[in-house]
Amino acid sequence: MTKYIFVTGGVVSGIGKGIIAASVGRLLKNRGLTVFMQKFDPYINVNPGKMSPYQHGEVFVTKDGAETDLDLGHYERFIDVELTQNASMSAGRVYQNVIENERQGKYEGATIQVIPHITDEIKNKVYAAAEESEADIVITEIGGTVGDIESLPFVEAVRQVHGEQNTEDVIFIHTTLIPKVPASNEYKTKPTQHSFKELMSQGVKANIIVTRCDEPLEEDMKKKIAMFCDVNEQAIIESRNVENLYDLPLLFQEQGLDDYILKKFKLDHLPKADMTDWKAMIDRTNNLTNKVKIALVGKYVQLHDAYLSTYEAMLHAGFDLSTEIDLEWINSEDVTDDNAGEIFKDVDGIIVPGGFGQRGIEGKIVASKFARENNLPFFGISLGMQVAAIDFARNVCGLEKANSIEMNPGTPHPIIVPTAGILDPGDSLRLGNHPCQLKQGTMASELYKESVVFERHRHRYEFNNKYREILEEKGLSFSGVTPDGQIVEIIELEDNDFYVGCQFHPEFKSRPNRSHPLFYGFIKASLHFSQKRVK
Ligand code: GLN
Repeated sequence: MTKYIFVTGGVVSGIGKGIIAASVGRLLKNRGLTVFMQKFDPYINVNPGKMSPYQHGEVFVTKDGAETDLDLGHYERFIDVELTQNASMSAGRVYQNVIENERQGKYEGATIQVIPHITDEIKNKVYAAAEESEADIVITEIGGTVGDIESLPFVEAVRQVHGEQNTEDVIFIHTTLIPKVPASNEYKTKPTQHSFKELMSQGVKANIIVTRCDEPLEEDMKKKIAMFCDVNEQAIIESRNVENLYDLPLLFQEQGLDDYILKKFKLDHLPKADMTDWKAMIDRTNNLTNKVKIALVGKYVQLHDAYLSTYEAMLHAGFDLSTEIDLEWINSEDVTDDNAGEIFKDVDGIIVPGGFGQRGIEGKIVASKFARENNLPFFGISLGMQVAAIDFARNVCGLEKANSIEMNPGTPHPIIVPTAGILDPGDSLRLGNHPCQLKQGTMASELYKESVVFERHRHRYEFNNKYREILEEKGLSFSGVTPDGQIVEIIELEDNDFYVGCQFHPEFKSRPNRSHPLFYGFIKASLHFSQKRVK
């Protein structure tokens, strides 16, 4: 029997609700429970796949190819479970499903309404997650802020879940902010009280309130919230500003959050959460004795969330190598052959992450060329692999004007072409986990220590096999391909200390306590580079 935790947000958005939910997930997992997480997003887009990264940050991809909110990245990193299509649902998708059903006559002529049709569709997703995952606990985060028009059907749906399940099997956690009023220099609990009431007016009474506050919550503030909101004082939990977000599960454990949840679920016979491993990881993060400077060359660098998982994956590799990552965000539009030497003069490695479209592409090609020529560690992800191949074709193989069809459909040397089977480049992508066979003796196979790996994809172009021989002759190695040999997944340069590009997104499978082999290799090589330079 699955138990349900619903996490709502009050007062304002952007207070780390996703990380709070994920921290709860990690604590419960370490109490021996299986956990699945899902996120409901109240916007009308069907998924974030076509939203600008400036609007939304990165698009996270699940193993079965759902394009989702970046909060799913937090979930996977915290609970270390590969999530699925059932982990993500937007209002747009809910409506799309309902309208499709209506068109197919599935409602037998009924008038389609928010209640019950839309709310049923939302509830189906909650129950589908429980059924598919067979998890003991499903944690559902409702995006946005309670009181928004868009989130009403979601709150109503989870209210109904509460009615359909045993009361002791459902918990509502409401997350809020305690702001400071500058004039009086006082923290105020009033917005928390109001948003709790707003939630009540929609029929949901929170069992637990997690508040974000700049300073530790004073006892009397806790008492006040408890009294006004009729919530047990032990269930008023503070989510302090933490320097390291992976500290949060430990802070919650100290405050007895998991004890409180399990008591309500009548599971308090379970042993305490053993956080030894997690604490060892935190210890590593506090003992970073080395430092490397990495240049991330992308076009959405003004919004760091656009590269969230990539950044996290570098940090994780740093944890395992006692190395602090000093990241320099470089706008690829600013990089030219003339200034590359100046821009990259004191960096220890260059990473070119994924991306779409023509803007800024030439700067990325220059960055990969600079790394190649100077034996500077280079890691290209998806588009980053593609630009590395273009540089190699142009500048090593002499294939002038080589390009990707995405950037120049008329190029005389289409090094990167639409992926076979992706018929409509405007619409479809190759998504989710696909196998990649590693060539023995290459850097990739040494790092992975496996012969076949499964990695997450999100692309519609790929390396053009017609050019394999030409590039191989000049020293580019195709160290990872699909088991049928058809799609190039990893390229590397044998002559360089670390020069690797992959068509997939390894960042999605990196964990704070288990860094990804390719990121590990990249940061390790960058560390060597920095030490060599110091000498
Ligand atoms: N735009 C490229 C493609 O579609 C790369 C995609 C990406 O970087 N994820 O193939």
